[in-house]
Amino acid sequence: MGYRFSPMTQHDLFIGGSWVKGAVYQPNLNPSNLDESVGEYAHADEAKAKDAVAAARAALPEWSRSNIQTRADALDRVGTEILARREEIGRLLAREEGKTLKEGIGEVTRAGNIFKFFAGEALRISGELVPSVRSGVHVEVTREPVGVVTIITPWNFPIAIPAWKIAPALAFGNTVVFKPAELTPGCAWAVSEIISRSGFPAGVFNLVIGKGRIVGEILVTSPEVDAVSFTGSVETGHHILLAATKRHAKVQLEMGGKNPLVVLDDADIEVAVDCAVQGAFYSTGQRCTASSRLVVTDGIHDAFVEKTISRLKALRVGDAVAPDTDVGPVVDQSQLDQDLSYIEIGRGEGARLAFGGERISRDTRGYYLSPALFVETDNRMRVNREEIFGPVATVVRVKGYEEAVEVANDTEFGLSAGVVTTSLKHADDFKRRSRAGMVMVNLPTAGVDYHVPFGGTKGSSYGPREQGRYAREFYTTVKTAYVSS
Ligand code: ADP
Repeated sequence: MGYRFSPMTQHDLFIGGSWVKGAVYQPNLNPSNLDESVGEYAHADEAKAKDAVAAARAALPEWSRSNIQTRADALDRVGTEILARREEIGRLLAREEGKTLKEGIGEVTRAGNIFKFFAGEALRISGELVPSVRSGVHVEVTREPVGVVTIITPWNFPIAIPAWKIAPALAFGNTVVFKPAELTPGCAWAVSEIISRSGFPAGVFNLVIGKGRIVGEILVTSPEVDAVSFTGSVETGHHILLAATKRHAKVQLEMGGKNPLVVLDDADIEVAVDCAVQGAFYSTGQRCTASSRLVVTDGIHDAFVEKTISRLKALRVGDAVAPDTDVGPVVDQSQLDQDLSYIEIGRGEGARLAFGGERISRDTRGYYLSPALFVETDNRMRVNREEIFGPVATVVRVKGYEEAVEVANDTEFGLSAGVVTTSLKHADDFKRRSRAGMVMVNLPTAGVDYHVPFGGTKGSSYGPREQGRYAREFYTTVKTAYVSS
């Protein structure tokens, strides 16, 4: 295994089976301690991005017809090594992204499990043999790889999101060009380095780190790329959709959320507060499934707000790797500016900041922000309509269940939605009427399994679902063959 992370090491790009020098190297700063660099990472220029696409194209004919046992074994080796190194890579994740060590190790474990799941899926590719309506003819429906797949990922799940795109892409015989977020190249590099030693032929998997607007743009617009899977902001997602579909490439997008957690009068208040605090503030609220709108009915509203505030007071905000930290720092200056600006916007709109929302200092220079809770908000306010992507949640007070459902669905997004209730009738009804792709009953809106579909409706997602058996919808294409015997 040999390789261990060191701040002095320069981390290269991986193209066509070789480690390749970048045009420049940039330090990967720790948001808990800005005086610490996690390592230097190569940035690709346009030429390197084109090389990566060419390498993936050249490797496609062989890999697309490769033996499924070879694919399964290679993916399984990746999963096994990730799991064996979960503490080490989890620490790297916490240091480069700022989620807590526990959350970081959890995410790495999930990534390892995803590779193992898709090792199995590689063996389960199947088709259908269908009788024809014509005598002496039969029809075969089979699944084939899509081709060269560009994978573009954000910084907030720097290993799990790459894993849930890369693993199915490779399992189903596609070749990959992977461009992680510039902010978190460490985990992307670590997983790429493992892949580089796990038995995939040269060019099947390529890593290019670099700016979205330069490197990402080439990976999206290149005519040699057959499909693009993207997770990130709404704005970039729309841009990619237009650019890629113009030349009929297949596109899958996961974008924002403005996820409601509905708390009804009959809720177990402890469960409600747990779900709200977990869903809104853990991982520093930097999750597209975060519960950013807490929609609470009249009867339980005051008790819920009071108990939530006392829980927020007890949350320890600090260095991501310190053992007693509950909430790590915000990822970088521009995200912190965005969080603080929404706190001002909320105040300006007449929402009452009931707790937090302040820049706080710790022993090290980091982007520390206390969890912010707005009350007395209206669902039409910008803080209830736009994704903030930080430790900021709002409470919307509603009269009863019907209004709660209306407010929950009154958003341009539709990723995740939750309800906390002891009423089977309301739980059942909410599952049906929620216009989100994922619905949680007495659970936080964030925190999902790795073996079942992930995705949303409306402005949150585009294209087939990710993860689990559904991943094949995006990473394969269907062929119908008619055979006369
Ligand atoms: P975030 O707010 O998470 O940074 P972005 O949508 O800006 O959201 O970034 C998500 C990913 O998309 C990153 O890897 C980024 O480099 C990439 N990206 C940004 N702009 C483009 C673009 N024009 N084309 C392709 N990828 C892009």
